[in-house]
Amino acid sequence: MCKKDPPLDVYKTKHVILVFVDGARYTETWGNGELALIPNRAALSTQGAICTEFYNLGITNTCCGHDAGCTGVNEAISNNGYQLPNWPSMFQYYRKAKNAPANKTWLITSKDKLHVLSDCVDTTMAGMFRPMFDCGINGPFTGYRDDSTTFARTIQKLQTDKPDLVVINFKEPDASGHAADTIGYVNGIIATDAYIGQLWSYLQSDPYYAGTTTLIVTNDHGRHTAGWLDGYVSHGDGCVGCRHIEFFAIGPDIKQNYTSTEQYELVDIPKTISQLMMFPMPTGTGRVMHDVLK
Ligand SMILES: [Zn+2]
Ligand SMILES: [Zn+2]
Repeated sequence: MCKKDPPLDVYKTKHVILVFVDGARYTETWGNGELALIPNRAALSTQGAICTEFYNLGITNTCCGHDAGCTGVNEAISNNGYQLPNWPSMFQYYRKAKNAPANKTWLITSKDKLHVLSDCVDTTMAGMFRPMFDCGINGPFTGYRDDSTTFARTIQKLQTDKPDLVVINFKEPDASGHAADTIGYVNGIIATDAYIGQLWSYLQSDPYYAGTTTLIVTNDHGRHTAGWLDGYVSHGDGCVGCRHIEFFAIGPDIKQNYTSTEQYELVDIPKTISQLMMFPMPTGTGRVMHDVLK
């Protein structure tokens, strides 16, 4: 344990919900001075913390970005849903450490290909300690579904299973961005922000979650910087627009009304969650985001 790590019994967090808003560019979220497209997060920000220097420093596509945010490792995996991460996820480490049943961990994604986050190649964990998953229209290789369905399924599972570690993917605004649908892209940011607001309200209304839940919002990647290649339509290289993403967190152990300017990246999220929930994450390469913790 390094000097900065407090004793492991200081955290109030018992549950963590991690939301990936797929492919929102920082300039449309916290980098937009008016915060006009994320009014719900803006309203919650007085109770939470943001990082202004948060990045995907790995490969800026969907599977790699989510992989980094769940395994704590930047690695190259296929973006088609046929290749599992090499390293175990926080789901697997959590279940193993806590002897938790599968339905205490849920992976709920609009994009079917993100079922890959439910397992790994590493032979010490492959096929073991997997979370429950609900991905795409009807599971792997059945297509993307509406975010409204993902949101409804999330609330349903929170009500019935009371999971303690949940990862959610909303396909917007990425899906509309790739379609070069400017209005859809903007509306996708607004709509996912509304789901996040409703999700936090639900968590505060449920005695199982109220006061003991940390909600984290990030993106798997951004999109090309305006003026570079086709701008907001695509992503996948190392430009600032693709790498610069958001980090917002709110919960009992998160500083309130706090803006961190320290540089962090996606692999730091699972490490931080493992610290808050007190389980080991030995293969994660990230660091605990002490700057946003109380
Ligand atoms: Zn994506
Ligand atoms: Zn780019």
